[in-house]
Amino acid sequence: MLTLRGRLTAAFLAVAFGPVLLGAVFVASTVTAVDRSRATERLAVAATAVRTSIDALCQQLRAAADAVALTADHAGAATQAVSRGLAAAVLVTDVTGRVSHATPDAPPAPWRDCAAPQPPGGSVSALVVRVELRDTAGMTLGTVAAAQPVDPALIARLAAVTGVAVTLLDGASGPAQVAHTTESAGGRDAVLAAAASLPDGRVSGTTDGRYVRRAGPTTGQPLPLVLSVPSNQPPGLHAVLVAVVLLAALLGVAAAWRLARVTTRPLVELAGAVDRVAAGDLTARVPVRSGDEIGRLAVAFNRMTRETGGYLAALASSRDQLRGHLAVLGDTLASTHDLQRILRLILHSALAATGARAGAVLLTEPGGVLVAQCTEGFDGRWPGAGAGAPTVPLGGGVVGTVAATGQPRRGRVGPAPAEPGDPPCRTYIAVPFAAPAGRGEPGSISAADGDTPAELALGVLALYDRLGGEEFDDDDLITLRTFAGHAAVAVDNVRVHEENQRLSLTDPLTGLWNYRYLRESLRREVERASRFGRMVSVLVLDLDRFKTVNDTYGHAAGDTVLAEFARRVRGEIREVDLAFRQGGEEFVVLLPETDARGATIVAERLGAAVRGAPVVVVGHTGVREPIQVTVSIGIAVFPDHADTGPQVLQAADEALYAAKAAGRDTWRVASAREASVTREMPVPPAARSPSDGLPRAGPGTGRTGPPGGASSGPHPPGRGHGR
Ligand code: GH3
Ligand code: MG
Ligand code: MG
Repeated sequence: MLTLRGRLTAAFLAVAFGPVLLGAVFVASTVTAVDRSRATERLAVAATAVRTSIDALCQQLRAAADAVALTADHAGAATQAVSRGLAAAVLVTDVTGRVSHATPDAPPAPWRDCAAPQPPGGSVSALVVRVELRDTAGMTLGTVAAAQPVDPALIARLAAVTGVAVTLLDGASGPAQVAHTTESAGGRDAVLAAAASLPDGRVSGTTDGRYVRRAGPTTGQPLPLVLSVPSNQPPGLHAVLVAVVLLAALLGVAAAWRLARVTTRPLVELAGAVDRVAAGDLTARVPVRSGDEIGRLAVAFNRMTRETGGYLAALASSRDQLRGHLAVLGDTLASTHDLQRILRLILHSALAATGARAGAVLLTEPGGVLVAQCTEGFDGRWPGAGAGAPTVPLGGGVVGTVAATGQPRRGRVGPAPAEPGDPPCRTYIAVPFAAPAGRGEPGSISAADGDTPAELALGVLALYDRLGGEEFDDDDLITLRTFAGHAAVAVDNVRVHEENQRLSLTDPLTGLWNYRYLRESLRREVERASRFGRMVSVLVLDLDRFKTVNDTYGHAAGDTVLAEFARRVRGEIREVDLAFRQGGEEFVVLLPETDARGATIVAERLGAAVRGAPVVVVGHTGVREPIQVTVSIGIAVFPDHADTGPQVLQAADEALYAAKAAGRDTWRVASAREASVTREMPVPPAARSPSDGLPRAGPGTGRTGPPGGASSGPHPPGRGHGR
């Protein structure tokens, strides 16, 4: 295959060498043409000169013959004419043709008459002019012929007169021969060959570089002569031209090869660099040697590889970033049960992985509503995002539909406004996530990955507005499902954890907080109250004569009573209040931000709630029987009665003993600090409230409610079993 360099070399060579070749041909042909025309001219002049010379010779012979004819003494006149050189020989004949007189040394025949019309070829030995010899009366007596030999001397004279080589042909028998010539020995054959078929007056070239022209025989010039001149071309012209052309060709090849090399070198370098890039080496650069097109190509190539390298670096860094996110996600999943933090991290990682601009994680809450746990990138465009938590009704909008059907959705929002519940966006993708298989939770689906479309998802991970405006694709769906899986595990873990926590802190029989949580809560509430200068009341409750219930109706009936008691306690306290089962049939209620007076009101209400209706149990006999139950309550207040949680509890315990001692089914407030336990006398039913308004313990008051307006205004109902 011909390379580009080879083709360029050929092209450059053609451009450089062609003109040289043409020039050489032009010079050679011009010189030849000029030479030929000059030779033709010389030969024409020479032909005229030959004709003139022959003519002059014939005139001379005619004069000699006339002189002999006019003289009576023919012999004397003839001898005189020969001696004077007018003719070489004179011959006198009579009418019969007999020679009457002849000068000696007459040239041999054949002679050719000067006046011969259309003289034939053949050999010629002499030129002759014949004149008739007449008497005075005009009678023909004979003829006088004056002759001049056609010999080498005559030819040499003609050559001297014309300045060209003169050759006399002898065509007497067969092809023409050379009779006499002034041409060199080497040239005579070439001249003979060229002249053989040449018409008169035409010029022809010989093989050895001569120009030849026939001159005669014609009327007035009876000799078959050939004139020839050597070529005037400088010797060795063609050799010089060939040498010049060869040299030019050589130089042209060298220059063309070099030019082609210079031209193709950047291309070769570029091809090498492209190869390196193809092999993955993005540091490959091409030297920029000029500002021409190839230089621009090199600059563009370098920029392309540089920017591609930049893109790769950005890709690598975003991959590293993603890995970092995943690592943090893994750590977080493993080490924390902070659901908000985990979901925020999952959302953040999903946004980074898919290049979405905004997103949200929503969890299905009881009541058929999705509540956003965390949002990112909405900048207030989604009502509630950023401030409170946006909520979406189940089945409403894209997110609600995904949660309701358990099927992921992705697409583009048309020109119509987004459905209610959806944030304003152009493109979206939403994937449901379900509790891991095998763990059912109310309101969540049991199978993973939304395979059971009719059930509700645990939550939805939704992303919006992929950067660049393109729609989310199947890869994004796969990525998002992975993150949704993480979210599902996280939510499930946290919920399981919370459930475990709750179980470890609650009493299974009554559902109230257990003793462990009591200590913890007491410490926390006392600490908080002391920090903010508030009060905490502690109520210790003990069922009266509970042993008897057990003994009479059995342990199971006792348990029923305990559960029912707990239910009634929960029904009487606020949401912020906490109820605990301390152990056996002893309970504790914590009332934050409540003073002794408030506590007595609660105690009174609790006592009334227990006493108000008998508890129906199934006894040993299997018969349902109502049991009348009462409770005794001891009250102590931080910081009135003690400075620490355990001390307050201790004080309340002591107040409980007081209540028991006072006959049960009543409450007592711990005594002031100086005294260990209140030993006040019960306030008689008819007595008036003391001016401080605080309730006073006593059997009568315990049953009928605290005196002094302490019973005014019911407490807001609440469920004590709040978490
Ligand atoms: P009082 O408190 O009025 O002085 O008399 P009491 O009979 O209630 O006496 P005490 O408080 O000492 O009795 C505790 C009894 O509570 C002992 C036990 O039979 C009963 N008990 C403790 N824990 C449970 C329990 O979990 N279930 C049942 N059914 N009974 C329990
Ligand atoms: Mg007890
Ligand atoms: Mg008891």
